[in-house]
Amino acid sequence: MSRVKRLCVYCGSSGRVAEEYREAARRTGTLLAKAGIELVYGGGRVGLMGLMADAAIAAGGRVIGIIPDFLHTREVAHPSVSELIVVSSMHERKQRMFELSDAFAILPGGLGTLDEAFECLTWRQLGLHDEPILLVDVGGYWAPLLELIDRVIEAGFARPKTRVLFEVVPDPEALVAALKDAPEPALAPATRRV
Ligand code: AMP
Repeated sequence: MSRVKRLCVYCGSSGRVAEEYREAARRTGTLLAKAGIELVYGGGRVGLMGLMADAAIAAGGRVIGIIPDFLHTREVAHPSVSELIVVSSMHERKQRMFELSDAFAILPGGLGTLDEAFECLTWRQLGLHDEPILLVDVGGYWAPLLELIDRVIEAGFARPKTRVLFEVVPDPEALVAALKDAPEPALAPATRRV
C-alpha cells in the first residue's frame, strides 16, 4: 500500500505531441487508478491532461480537477472527474493542487508545466514542504532541463543538494513504483508553510 494517497500531476495541455507522450499520460492515469492513488490535476479535458484523466476515470480511479474560472472554456473543464474545483486565479489553482496532494509528478509539458514544476521545486528548496517530486523523463524529454539544472549548480547559483529535491524516473511504471517506496516526509503536512 502506498503512503502517497493523492498525487498531483503537472503535464501539458497540448495534445499535438508525439504518441510516446500521449501514451505516457494515459498509462499514468491507468496505473494511478490501479494503485488506488487519487489524481489531482488541472481539471482540463485537453491535451495530455485530458488523456491522463480519461484513462484514470476509465480504470475506476478518483480524479480531482482544479480549474480557474477563466480557463473553464479554453482548457474545457473535464465533465466526468470525480470532483471539479473551480477557483478564481492561477495562483489559487496551484495552491489548491498543492494543498490536496502528498506527492508531485511532472510529465512532459510546456511553459505552464514548467511554471508549476518550478514552483513546487523551489518551495521544497526553501523548506516549505518535504513531499516527493518525481520528474517523469519520458523518452529523455527533460534531458535539457536536467542539463540546465546541472549548469546552474556548477555555476554556483544553486547548491549541489538541489539535485536531491527531485527524483528522475523514466516512465509511469517507475513513477508508481517510486510512490510506493516514498519515505515519510520530514515535515508533517500540518507544518507546511505554503
Ligand atoms: P502547458 O504545459 O503550457 O500546456 O500548461 C499546462 C498547465 O499549466 C495548463 O493547465 C495551464 O493552464 C497551466 N499554466 C499555464 N501557465 C501557468 C502559470 N503561469 N501558472 C500556473 N499554471 C499555468
